Amino acid sequence: MMPIVRLGDEGQWTNYHGTGRCEGATRFALRSGDAARGRDEIAIAAKAVQDWLAQARTAGRRVRPLGAGWSPSNINISSQSWLLHTRRFNRCFRADAADVRPGVDAGALMLVEAGALVDEVSDKFEEQGRSLWTSGAGNGQTFAGACATGTHGSMIARGGIQDHVRAVQIVTPAGIYWIEPDAGVMSDAFIAATGSTPVRDDALFAAAQLPVGALGIVTALVVDSVPKFLVRPIQNLRKVEPAALNWLAEGDFRRFSATYALDRNPDFVQMIVNPYKPFKRPAMLRFLYREPWREDYARATPAQLGAGYDALSLLGRLLDDYPWARGALLQFAMKMGYAAGPDVDDPPVYGSWGEGLDTHRPLADLFNASVTIDRADLAYAFERICTVYARHGGSTVVTVRFMERAQGLLAPARFPHNAVIDFDGPRSRRTADAYARVVECLDAEGIAFTRHWAKSCRLDAARVASDYGEDFRRWRAARDRLMPDAAHRALFGSAVLDGLGLTC
Ligand SMILES: Cc1cc2nc3c(=O)[nH]c(=O)nc-3n(C[C@H](O)[C@H](O)[C@H](O)COP(=O)(O)OP(=O)(O)OC[C@H]3O[C@@H](n4cnc5c(N)ncnc54)[C@H](O)[C@@H]3O)c2cc1C
Repeated sequence: MMPIVRLGDEGQWTNYHGTGRCEGATRFALRSGDAARGRDEIAIAAKAVQDWLAQARTAGRRVRPLGAGWSPSNINISSQSWLLHTRRFNRCFRADAADVRPGVDAGALMLVEAGALVDEVSDKFEEQGRSLWTSGAGNGQTFAGACATGTHGSMIARGGIQDHVRAVQIVTPAGIYWIEPDAGVMSDAFIAATGSTPVRDDALFAAAQLPVGALGIVTALVVDSVPKFLVRPIQNLRKVEPAALNWLAEGDFRRFSATYALDRNPDFVQMIVNPYKPFKRPAMLRFLYREPWREDYARATPAQLGAGYDALSLLGRLLDDYPWARGALLQFAMKMGYAAGPDVDDPPVYGSWGEGLDTHRPLADLFNASVTIDRADLAYAFERICTVYARHGGSTVVTVRFMERAQGLLAPARFPHNAVIDFDGPRSRRTADAYARVVECLDAEGIAFTRHWAKSCRLDAARVASDYGEDFRRWRAARDRLMPDAAHRALFGSAVLDGLGLTC
């Protein structure tokens, strides 16, 4: 079977949530083969990708690899380009002890083709008694696509999904590279069999863990895992007192949990608030408590485990039509959409990490933005953010999630401890404007923050350079070492990525 096939004639392609459209797109699909060994399969695919890049150059077209097309920031959009759908390039392979360097635990690793969904990788691990240790709120992204933007959830002691990556295979017009940290992961023989040039280099690896789609085509990743575990969710509506923000800012999650859920150390804490009077109206809280794996837990559905965001997005649309009812309607939506989860006094339900996540239905007209701040600034910043956002008519809930510093030079979670504040809901001019006012307010107050690569956060090159400082310079230096030829870098450009300073 040919690894790359052309899909139809030149035309349009619209991303998953309809936030952007590629005009004049020539579409291709990268597909898995049936080789017995992963290394052989990715060797064939990587070579085909390299030939495809040469053909695109000959045709005078730029290229854009596509994951699940979920990013609403339009970093997956490029007009007059060749698009490479990777979704069908999705096999996963176990690693053998003979394939890794001494001291590396092969049993924890999986060789993953870049288009495998997070959901598929999670399932494969769970079949083997292993688990991802964090992921986003949904799991319908491709693994490479999720890593490209630093996708994260709210596991408080963990970073982003890209932290699972131990090695990456990247194809550029000039070569097929196997990028690992200095210490190395896979054996020389394994890397040679993948048809790649080994690059054991901490700086390049740190760039490649979060490439934002600008470092060539990722064809495969080696993904790490932990032993499978159970989580017990608690999901409830509670009025949160302002003082609780101090506990969160200090990392005293135990106190927060003891006050609003169980008197135990939580592993995951998420707070969804109504920005209209956030402390007077109940917030939707979600906690996860890790427990050791056992086979005999009563199986629960994703809904019983509290997965999914949809009800709120639907009801959120009402808010734009009835702005006078915004605060009350939003609260109604929260009650309808989120109150279903098991509370403290309900019989406990349990699930694996993967069972508590859902893929997602496309939402038309999604608005999706965020700021990541130093968790220590939360108490000071949060009320200001809500006040400004509500005053200017922001019509979404505001979600607060927590994570540690994530890996990858361009990881938005770059503070030692991070609070990520999301504004997710229906798209409207008012909401976009209210978010812009939040950004202005943080700047005026001198509160440092970064923005999510995948969301509609209105970033530009100057801002990226100042937000990431020395790490941005390092990322670009790594990029230029990987692709010294400016014409090769430009092949991966697009209006959006050029505008962010990532491809020019
Ligand atoms: C409903 C919804 C829920 C979400 N929930 C969360 C969440 O909880 N937490 C969070 O952090 N984010 C979340 N996001 C954002 C989402 O995780 C990111 O947009 C993610 O990058 C999407 O992955 P994808 O596979 O769809 O990538 P795409 O959007 O297809 O691509 C993203 C970028 O990666 C590049 N790319 C993709 N594949 C490759 C490849 N093989 N090689 C090189 N470059 C590649 C693309 O060109 C593009 O630049 C959510 C988004 C939506 C729409």
